[in-house]
Amino acid sequence: MTDARPETILTHAGTAPFDHHGIVNPPVYHASTVLFPSVAALEAADATPFETINYGRMGTPTSQALEQAVAELEGGFRAVTAASGLAAIATALTAFTKAGDHILVTDSAYGPTRRFCSEVLARFGVAVEYYDPLIGAGIAALIRPETRVVYLESPGSLTFEVQDVPAIAAAARAAGAVVLMDNTWATPLYFRPFDHGVDVSIHAATKYIVGHSDAMLGLMVCTEAAWEPVKRAAVRFGTCAGPDDVYLGLRGLRTLAVRLRRHGQAALALADWFSVQPEVERVLYPARPEDPGHGLWRRDFGGASGLFAVQFRPCSRRAVAALLDPLDLFGIGYSWGGFESLVLPVHPRRHRSATRWDAPGPLIRFHAGLEDIDDLIADLDRGFGRLRAALDEGEEPKENESVGAAHTRKGPVGPLNP
Ligand SMILES: *Cc1c(COP(=O)(O)O)cnc(C)c1O
Repeated sequence: MTDARPETILTHAGTAPFDHHGIVNPPVYHASTVLFPSVAALEAADATPFETINYGRMGTPTSQALEQAVAELEGGFRAVTAASGLAAIATALTAFTKAGDHILVTDSAYGPTRRFCSEVLARFGVAVEYYDPLIGAGIAALIRPETRVVYLESPGSLTFEVQDVPAIAAAARAAGAVVLMDNTWATPLYFRPFDHGVDVSIHAATKYIVGHSDAMLGLMVCTEAAWEPVKRAAVRFGTCAGPDDVYLGLRGLRTLAVRLRRHGQAALALADWFSVQPEVERVLYPARPEDPGHGLWRRDFGGASGLFAVQFRPCSRRAVAALLDPLDLFGIGYSWGGFESLVLPVHPRRHRSATRWDAPGPLIRFHAGLEDIDDLIADLDRGFGRLRAALDEGEEPKENESVGAAHTRKGPVGPLNP
């Protein structure tokens, strides 16, 4: 479908009804063993291991349909499926690194990405250096002869800094480094990584692509040059995904555009509402003109999804609990990208080393779901009533009772949660 626009690609890519009795959706192939009609045919298939399905782990027509659809949508060459977003990140990072290499990772990266770099890659002799997400072209000063990978995530999924992707990617490429980017927040619809110098665009398809909070799935969309090393790493690691989850990814993809539009609309309405509450210091959402990343976001992005954060003025853990615990429509939990609204206290201080996160009050991340926007705001409004009652009752927060301070830790960081 040359020249088709994204919503048309979303609707038709990866389908071939008349290969399957005219049935609209591709079948779910459950496979381990793949049979060949002769030894010669088996040997012929083995001769092209990354092209031919000779075993279930190498993929199925179902995973190929998803890969084809996402690669077409994002403008990549081909894609590789993984069992989770983190598996995709780990596979892509490993594809391009060896002992003695140096990699640059944004300080705003998803926590488990950092832990993979610091705990696994470092153990295999890769020097991991974190950089200020706002560094832009200044990244050139950090690049060494042995720098193999520059890793981006924009905006960061806790702190929402928008990176200057083209400037960082240009500096990385000029030095011969590979540019990997976590594009989960924007999805292939709202940021086009291959137009901005990225080599591998990684998605936690678990989030918006699946879109219904019911499957784990990862995708690595690659340029032509990056595809073979990524596919090779995936094959060596045994990276693959369950067929039903792959199918849920394909199914979610069809409605991605309409869902995202609505998530973004709700997020903007909620973010504007939060911004005028006196207990709120600021809202972190690049679609708002007040956001420091707004200019870059407008330059490079085609839209904003439903995830944002609210920086509160200092207040006690008890007051935050009074706000959040009884909310009817916002579930407390990890992840995002499903149809439902979610809330999560986040602690960027735990996940930083190149930059500081000094805000004294709590940072709360919200995912705007597909509920009625007025109902969401009414729920939050009741929550702020409880917050104010708790603050009125209570004394000034003691230093060690403030949520921000209580979670400042020393030493090896990182609980085993996501
Ligand atoms: C959730 C998430 C991941 C990891 O995806 P999983 O499928 O949960 O492993 C990676 N990056 C970002 C930005 C995420 O939010």
